[in-house]
Amino acid sequence: MSTWKPITQIVQDVQSGTVSAVSLVEKSLAEIEAKADYRSIIAVTKERAFERAAQIDAQVAAGQSTGRLAGVPFIAKDNFLVFGADTTAASNILKGFDAPYQSTAIERLEAEGAICVAKANLDAFAHGSSTENSDFMTTLNPHDKTRVPGGSSGGSAAAVALELAPFALGTDTGGSIRQPASFSGVVGYKPTYGLVSRSGVVAMASSTDVIGPMTRTVEDAALVLDCMAGKDILDGTTIERAAEAYSQLGQQDLTGVKIGVIKEYFGEGLDSEVKTVIDQAIEKIKHAGATVEEVSLPSLKLALACYYIIVPAEISSNLSRYDGQRYGYFTDDADDLDHSYTQSRSIGFGDEAKRRIMIGTYVLSSGYYDAYYQKAQLVRTKLINEFKDAFNKYDVLLGPTAPTTAFKLGEHSSDPLEMYLTDIMTVAVNLAGVPAISLPAGLSDGLPVGVQLIANQSNDHQLLSIARSIEGVLV
Ligand code: GLN
Repeated sequence: MSTWKPITQIVQDVQSGTVSAVSLVEKSLAEIEAKADYRSIIAVTKERAFERAAQIDAQVAAGQSTGRLAGVPFIAKDNFLVFGADTTAASNILKGFDAPYQSTAIERLEAEGAICVAKANLDAFAHGSSTENSDFMTTLNPHDKTRVPGGSSGGSAAAVALELAPFALGTDTGGSIRQPASFSGVVGYKPTYGLVSRSGVVAMASSTDVIGPMTRTVEDAALVLDCMAGKDILDGTTIERAAEAYSQLGQQDLTGVKIGVIKEYFGEGLDSEVKTVIDQAIEKIKHAGATVEEVSLPSLKLALACYYIIVPAEISSNLSRYDGQRYGYFTDDADDLDHSYTQSRSIGFGDEAKRRIMIGTYVLSSGYYDAYYQKAQLVRTKLINEFKDAFNKYDVLLGPTAPTTAFKLGEHSSDPLEMYLTDIMTVAVNLAGVPAISLPAGLSDGLPVGVQLIANQSNDHQLLSIARSIEGVLV
């Protein structure tokens, strides 16, 4: 039996006074403590969580109205600025950083009554695919402790799979919500770029960073998205939300839904057992009435190379703010200001952040800009156009989320290129800014396999509706 009811039922229980918000926080903290050996949690926000829970219980007792997430505990990836615990992005350079304000996503969830109880582990600054790049610890896969949970939102994915809380928040710059969702057997939703404000989230690559929910069901994901989405004055890249509520999914019949299966995601590198699970899922979807055809997006084969030029370029710029002077790691063992910058950054940043700063600075430097950065941007435009063309014919595109199931701890950590290759099926979505979801499709050797569904820009509502129907035929 699962630990948590669907989110709407938890909220009903709180609003009717059947269950107190305080008891839900207690329950979540007890789960976190009992499953600490998976190392998914960096810190708990216990004191603040209990204060907020008591306020919600008092509101209920006084007959006042509460929000759509009243009393629901959740866990935020530790790159969200949150009150009640440090915000570290799992990096030594931000250790001890006390956020002066909260991210918009957290503020909006709190306004609906949700309660943040803990901060989840990640690859430092969200650079990675396994959580092994965390400067603090490696999270273990909930299905097999000798394997990674995926990354970079590995702590959030594991937390949901272990049922430490009803939902968690992740960020997805190149797959960091979807890939760990696939490896850990949960639902991971990456919204259209700009649908959820990035304000107050530690920046990785500003042109592809998005925030999204990690849950056990599509319905829960849609509700959490509904509470976060929409324009924000603090993030100029935010877009208008759809008129319809994302949580009102309606009954989407799969009959007549046109699905394009992405040819490029079934070639070399795809594990044959993952392929079997995805093929079985496709059969079930066909059986439910959808029209399924193969579609080719030729530029997808360039997406990974393109991503690993554009994203490090943006990282090198975004990480330049960490100079040790106003906040973050600082060493006073320096002769002058320049030396203080280099010392603070050399000691504070881990290997992967340094690697990306170097790659990014290189591809942006004069003489190389035209050869790398500008070319990558041209490829990106081509890719965007290929997605647009495909969506003229199909409602959603489908493929595996990742080429393999969860790999062994240490299997790729000594070879950065091998690690980058694990992102081959997720990065294109970020370059194009389109929404995508990873759904549990089945098991291979006891390990979860995720199926990825992708929709056109701003078609989040349709994507979630179709995903819910597909979830229904897969379970
Ligand atoms: N694994 C990818 C990377 O290392 C994606 C990371 C992310 O989405 N934050 O860049």
